[in-house]
Amino acid sequence: MTLHYDLHSHSTASDGTLTPSELVAHAVKSGVNVLALTDHDTTKGIEEASLAASQTMLTLISGVEISVTWNNRTLHIVGLNMDINSPELQAGLATVLEFRNWRAHEISRRLAKRGINDAYEGALKYTNGDVISRTHYARFLVEQGYCKDVREVFKKYLVTGKPGHVAGEWATLENAVGWIIRAGGQAVIAHPARYKLTATKMRKLLGEFIECGGVGIEVISGSHSRDEYYTMANFARLHELYASAGSDYHGPINPWIELGRIPALPDGCKPIWELWDENQETQNISQVLE
Ligand code: AMP
Ligand code: MN
Ligand code: MN
Ligand code: MN
Repeated sequence: MTLHYDLHSHSTASDGTLTPSELVAHAVKSGVNVLALTDHDTTKGIEEASLAASQTMLTLISGVEISVTWNNRTLHIVGLNMDINSPELQAGLATVLEFRNWRAHEISRRLAKRGINDAYEGALKYTNGDVISRTHYARFLVEQGYCKDVREVFKKYLVTGKPGHVAGEWATLENAVGWIIRAGGQAVIAHPARYKLTATKMRKLLGEFIECGGVGIEVISGSHSRDEYYTMANFARLHELYASAGSDYHGPINPWIELGRIPALPDGCKPIWELWDENQETQNISQVLE
């Protein structure tokens, strides 16, 4: 049987709009067999999602999407299949969340200078209290009538050069990858085509990522075009990286992305889940031998 994988998704534990249980139910309905919940800088939703998944046939992979600053840019590193009880991983994520919270107040101070008051409180209403992201600011500004939709808020207020933009001081690449691999997981570069790197910069990133212990890149992503699947598949082959696939689903609020709508990996890609299948087989064999 061919399994359907979706290895990048968000819940209300970060900036998604479905609770972890609702996300699992939606994944089952959408025909996903293996789902990774990869909230921004937190694993808080995993427990609820695992519990919900245990009542179904769905396999839940514990995941996270860590914000990283690399060469003055923000990158996202997805961690898959980690032990979420790793103290080092949790301590690392706590430092990232500390910056995230400071940044949220700073965004608010900057928006206030433009006459937009109490944005922190306004954005906070859209969170469950743990992770506050630019998406929550965007939802609040739409609610207040400053823009017609979330995309417009990003364009007018929240990206580089705009009034509410605050430069990142997220995790280093080395730390983010280290926390993931020392928690027993695999580190994957999220939506690599989104960074618009030149081929030279991309090679530099992949070289450093591999040196840190990273093993995969997202070839299929909800934010990649068809052409980009092939470009990224080539990078994966060239650097002998595993290929991952995820929709980056945030809930029905972004109707252009559907959970589990994942085309097949281009020929020649090594799927990252082969690593788990092998482990699974070894585990099963040792159980049989016991
Ligand atoms: P943050 O990590 O708080 O800086 O927020 C990043 C999140 O904002 C991403 O994961 C997306 O969910 C969302 N996002 C980023 N850029 C855009 C955009 N141009 N339009 C809509 N959402 C965006
Ligand atoms: Mn997001
Ligand atoms: Mn991302
Ligand atoms: Mn994401």
